[in-house]
Amino acid sequence: MSRSGRALFKQRGTAHLALSPRFSGGSKPWDISIIRNRTPTASPEIERLIELLAKLPGLGPRSARRAALHLLKRREALLAPLAEALGEAAAKVAICGQCGSLDAANPCVICADPRRDRTMLCVVAEVGDVWALERAGAFRGCYHVLGGVLSALDGVRPEDLRIGALLERAAEVGVREVILALAATVDGQTTAHVLSERLAGLNIAVTRLAQGVPMGGELEHLDDGTLLAALAARRA
Ligand SMILES: [Zn+2]
Repeated sequence: MSRSGRALFKQRGTAHLALSPRFSGGSKPWDISIIRNRTPTASPEIERLIELLAKLPGLGPRSARRAALHLLKRREALLAPLAEALGEAAAKVAICGQCGSLDAANPCVICADPRRDRTMLCVVAEVGDVWALERAGAFRGCYHVLGGVLSALDGVRPEDLRIGALLERAAEVGVREVILALAATVDGQTTAHVLSERLAGLNIAVTRLAQGVPMGGELEHLDDGTLLAALAARRA
């Protein structure tokens, strides 16, 4: 292949099909059916790897191919340890029976930690939110993962979330406050509203996260909603 041909191959994944003599015999090199009807270029094992990688969030078929190639090239350093880590995670990681987070232990390390403040429950939508709050290291209470937020559009109803378990935990002796740490989206705030109503009968404080100007945020870059919320929640 000429230098320019190689460069083209590098830039555009399918260009080699049109250039390759193997595919050009009998059909016009620009015949699109060649590309559509091509046979898999890799073995079934590799195709399966690509197919599974493409199901990961943020990865399409093209980036899945790149990731698969990257893994296969780094067999010892990356592929084998990743396969081992995936196997271990599949075998050991489970949902914590108390908070709904993910951990290799049940109850999870947070629920089992005697130093955590059991009078405060922080309600989040997803496990990723627990990780984000733990990274910040600002909360020393316990969590409750709902498993999503209510959504008319996606058909998520109250019974699809861990709301019953939350009400049970909130009613336990010693719980003083439930913090609703849900997204400032329509669905997040609808969920917070429904939870506030259901928790109202218990003798506990129900609070929400403050909304407003983020740390280091420039006013001119904020959306109208954030700016309005920040203005409404102004303090002396
Ligand atoms: Zn837990």
